[in-house]
Amino acid sequence: MRALSQLKTLLSPELFHKLPPPKALVQATWSRLHGLGHIVRSPFGGTRGIPAPTVTLDGDCRAGCVYLVGAGSGDVELLTLKAARLLQQADAVVYDRLVGDDVLALIPAGHERYYVGKERGHHSVPQAEIGALLVKLAGEGKSVVRLKGGDPGVFGRMGEELAALAEANIDAEIVPGITAASAAAAGMGIPLTDRAHAQQLRFITAQLCRKDGEPDWATLARQDETLIFYMGLTKVDAICTGLRRAGLPDDWPIMLVANASLPEQASLVGTLADMPGKLAESPLPSPCLIVVGSVVRMTETSPVGARAAATSTAAH
Ligand code: SAH
Repeated sequence: MRALSQLKTLLSPELFHKLPPPKALVQATWSRLHGLGHIVRSPFGGTRGIPAPTVTLDGDCRAGCVYLVGAGSGDVELLTLKAARLLQQADAVVYDRLVGDDVLALIPAGHERYYVGKERGHHSVPQAEIGALLVKLAGEGKSVVRLKGGDPGVFGRMGEELAALAEANIDAEIVPGITAASAAAAGMGIPLTDRAHAQQLRFITAQLCRKDGEPDWATLARQDETLIFYMGLTKVDAICTGLRRAGLPDDWPIMLVANASLPEQASLVGTLADMPGKLAESPLPSPCLIVVGSVVRMTETSPVGARAAATSTAAH
């Protein structure tokens, strides 16, 4: 059934529902897709003049190359086809903490895998060691996937890894992924930008948001923008205080979304004034994303937002 629902995501709902094929055929097609190296044809193709939808999965996975791949925000179905293909082909996969088990399950048994994320209460593997590992594996002639949560280029320290690979003259490719901001907005049923709400969108690391605050709050406190804070669960108080002091109104909307795109997604929707209290009352787990801006008000009318709110631990 999982294969069936994965195939469903590849085809238009109209084709999938109106022309249901024998399940066995669907599954055979999906196994061919898993088998890779082929052009996969949909069993629905060619009717009523509609060309057969095809998915080409015949890309290579080069020996000695490091693929910096986004694993998406958690839901395995949000993985790109390219990421899924490379995960099945690569000789070695080097992965982080935020990569889910469903995604790792795509790595064939017997292929090398290296965990370089942070264990609870422990430090991460130093970035220089990760760079050295990638260089070593590719230097041995292996094809390597460096798998990172979300998009590898968004607060993913990809720059240091690219530099290490460049210095060692190792070939690299980047495969983007669905970043947490996109997953959180989708999960809560809102756009990140809406013409009535935001003309700008900013991704900010909350690591600088301390009480005595390094961020330039004055430039962040705008009413025509959506702010996305990554890594900010322990900085909610400082963010709300900083933005209010810089001039945003007390009732300015803010939303916290934990485990976006996963079944355990949970959220809090409130204002800059009441969010620290709400969070203290109903703590959210990590990973958690913070969205600030009037676009958050759209959760009130979104059909997706209503569902998300109903299933969240404590919305509103
Ligand atoms: N490269 C990642 C971000 C890495 S920084 C991406 O593009 O998404 C790690 C931070 O991302 C976390 O502290 C959290 O703020 C956010 N994050 C990652 N996955 C998330 C998820 N499923 N739900 C909510 N926030 C998430």
